[in-house]
Amino acid sequence: MMVRSALLGASRSDRLRHTVERLPLTRTVVSRYVAGAEQSDAVRVAGELTGEGLAVTVDHLAEDTHDRSQATTVAQAYVSLLEALHKAELTPDVEVSVRLSALGRSLPADGEAIALENARQICQAAADAGTTVTLDMEEHTTVDSTLDVLRELRQDFPDVGAVLQARLKRTEADCRDLAQSGSRVRLCKGAYDEPESVAFRDRGEVDRSYVRCMKVLFAGDGYPMIATHDPRLVEIAGSLAARHRREQGSYEYQMLYGIRPREQRRLVRAGERVRVYVPYGPQWYAYLVRRLAERPADLAFLLRSVASS
Ligand code: FAD
Repeated sequence: MMVRSALLGASRSDRLRHTVERLPLTRTVVSRYVAGAEQSDAVRVAGELTGEGLAVTVDHLAEDTHDRSQATTVAQAYVSLLEALHKAELTPDVEVSVRLSALGRSLPADGEAIALENARQICQAAADAGTTVTLDMEEHTTVDSTLDVLRELRQDFPDVGAVLQARLKRTEADCRDLAQSGSRVRLCKGAYDEPESVAFRDRGEVDRSYVRCMKVLFAGDGYPMIATHDPRLVEIAGSLAARHRREQGSYEYQMLYGIRPREQRRLVRAGERVRVYVPYGPQWYAYLVRRLAERPADLAFLLRSVASS
C-alpha cells in the first residue's frame, strides 16, 4: 500500500517525468505497456491486435492541460488519429478513449464547456470514421463532471461510453443509472488513490464492490465492458453472462496493452469479444507510473533499464 501511494505521488512529479520521458522507449519497460510515441505506432499496434481478432481502444496520452491551445492540440491529435485508423480500415473494431482533463476541463472559468466542445469534435470524427468514443474516468472529484459531459454528448452520439470505478462507494448506484439500453459502461477497479470517505481502501472490499456492480450491469439492458485482469473477476463475469443468457458480443472484456496478453487471446479463442486498451504518445510517464503502482515488481525492471541507458 505504501509503495502504491508513493508511486501514485511520483506520477504527479514534473522533475521525475522530465528525466524519465527522455529515456528511449524501446530500452525500457515502457514499450511493454505503451505502443510508442507516434500516431503511426498506435495504428501499427492496433492493426496487429485486430489481425489477431482483438478489438482495440486507443488512448492518446496527454497531461492535464491548463492551456487552451494545448487542449485544442490534443483534440486535433484524436481527430487525426481517427482519420488514420479509418484510412487503415481499422474501424469500427478500433475506437478511442479520451480523458477530459487533457481536453481542458481544468481550465479556469469555462473549462468543462471547453472540454465538452473538444470531446464533441472527437465524437464527430469518430462517427465519421464509423466508430465510438469512451470517456475515461479520473479522480473522484471529477466523476459528476464526466457524467454530465457524457449525458450531453450522448444526445448527439448515443454510443459514447463511460467508465465507472468499483473502488468508489457511489459506483453501484451509478451502474444502476447507466445500465440502460444503448449505454456502454466500462467497469474497472479504479487507478487513483482515493480517500476513505468516498472509496473502499481494502482490496477485498473493492473486489466485492466490483462483483455487485457487474451484477447490476449484466442484469440491465446496457453493454457491459468488463475491464480487469483479475482472473476471479473474469470468471465471475462469465458466470453472470451465462446466468443472464447474454450472448457473446452483447458484452465485452477489456484489458490493458501488455498485461495478460495470453489471457486476452484465450478469451478470443473461446468466442468472447475482447478489447485491448492501447496508449501511445510522448507523454507516457504518468500512465506508466500508475501501471507500476499496480505491479511494483516491474519497478526493479524499469530501474535496471534506467541505470543501463
Ligand atoms: P488488480 O487487482 O490490479 O490485479 C488483479 C490480478 O490481475 C493480479 O493479481 C494478477 O493476477 C493480474 N495482473 C494485474 N496486473 C498484471 C500484470 N502487469 N501482469 C500480469 N498479471 C497482472 N482506471 C481508471 O481509474 N479510469 C479508467 O478510465 C480506466 N480505464 C481502464 C481501461 C481498461 C481497459 C483497463 C483494463 C483498466 C482501466 N483502468 C482505469 C485501470 C483500472 O482501474 C485498474 O487500475 C487496473 O486495471 C488494475 O486493476 P485489475 O482489475 O487488473 O486488478
